[in-house]
Amino acid sequence: MSALLLAAGLALGAMAGRPWAGLAFAALAAWAWQAWRLRGLLVRLDGRRRLKAPAGAGAWNEAERLMVRAQQDLRARKRRLVGMLRAYRALADALPDAVIVAERDSQRIAWFNAAATRLLGLHYPADIDAPLGERLQPMPVARWLASGRMAEPLGDVPSPIDASVRLSLRLVPYSEDLWLLIVRDVSRLNRLEQMRRDFVANVSHELRTPLTVVHGYLEMLDPAEQPEWAPMLAEMQRQSQRMTQLVEDLLTLSRLEARDSLDEEQVPMASMLATLRREAEALSQGRHEVVVADVAGVDLWGSVRELHSAFSNLVSNAVRYTPAGGRIGIEFRRDGGGAVLAVTDSGYGIPEAHLPRLTERFYRVSTSRSRETGGTGLGLAIVKHVLGLHQARLSIESEVGRGSTFACVFGAERVRQRESIAREGT
Ligand code: ADP
Repeated sequence: MSALLLAAGLALGAMAGRPWAGLAFAALAAWAWQAWRLRGLLVRLDGRRRLKAPAGAGAWNEAERLMVRAQQDLRARKRRLVGMLRAYRALADALPDAVIVAERDSQRIAWFNAAATRLLGLHYPADIDAPLGERLQPMPVARWLASGRMAEPLGDVPSPIDASVRLSLRLVPYSEDLWLLIVRDVSRLNRLEQMRRDFVANVSHELRTPLTVVHGYLEMLDPAEQPEWAPMLAEMQRQSQRMTQLVEDLLTLSRLEARDSLDEEQVPMASMLATLRREAEALSQGRHEVVVADVAGVDLWGSVRELHSAFSNLVSNAVRYTPAGGRIGIEFRRDGGGAVLAVTDSGYGIPEAHLPRLTERFYRVSTSRSRETGGTGLGLAIVKHVLGLHQARLSIESEVGRGSTFACVFGAERVRQRESIAREGT
């Protein structure tokens, strides 16, 4: 076009006898035309209008056609991204769990899905940028985050908008500066769990009376009257004793599970250790050496009855899983600010693979050995529950053929100065 204008200007100028003036005029016209095209394109680009591909030839048309193509590609990509974003948002909103993205440093809410409104009462946009811990009160989220133990889920807390809805919180640190908080409604699970507990407790309770009757009558039967029945009678007595013990253990577990806390008092450890020694000796009937070491010089704070039940389960296990001639050690010692009650035996030991599962109900390394020795498979489950209610933990070390140590580790808050300094020596 510009070339055409210049040629026409030159020709007209030549005809008028002023070729340079014609050329200058044509150059001005060509420049004006270029400026007009450029401006037109800029206006269209700036207005973000959809460009139309021009039909003609020439550099400007070609440039516009390229831009139209780039614009079409860009629009298609944008449509695709918007589609994906919508799909992700729909997906996040369809999740039954509340999902919250929070900034790690400031602990402020950056984003949340629809379930967060339903379960936690968060509202968009008012709660964007709100401090997470404060906004989710009275759930103890701030304390949980401050404790540094976020790897463990915060389980079974009431929802801030409806206390009958029980929630479980899990934190996933998914980038350098963001946290993902996943909140799940566990009310139904809790109800099922409660039903299971009630069922076990009711069944155990119902079994107690008939068992007592059977057991009572069996005790009354004298094997001397019918000597040929003596082995059967003895076996029936053993089995009824086992069933009674099973029911008692199930009831103990149900009782412990139903409680969040216990009635607590000073636990006189000197007399506790003396009782444990007596029990160990009675169970062992002289087959083992029983050694008690009371070196802590302090008492514990907790439930005397439940702690005795836990410790005596460990002592009973030590005696039952140690062959005659072995050694049973019961040691109460300080451990940093806290205290440890450790029961050690020189018995059969436990292969390492079994250790993490030992405290599960009815989990046994050897079912036959457990039955032979009168075990119910519930002893360590009871120990774990009792210790949990005292914020204590069970540490197990064992070596096959050499023996085991079951240690109850109590925190400093459970230690009290001893009232009576009566000591049980070894
Ligand atoms: P049980 O009534 O069968 O003894 P527990 O819950 O007390 O049930 O223990 C679970 C299992 O752990 C036992 O069956 C046994 O296999 C193993 N166990 C517990 N204590 C000891 C121990 N001191 N030495 C070896 N094995 C043990």
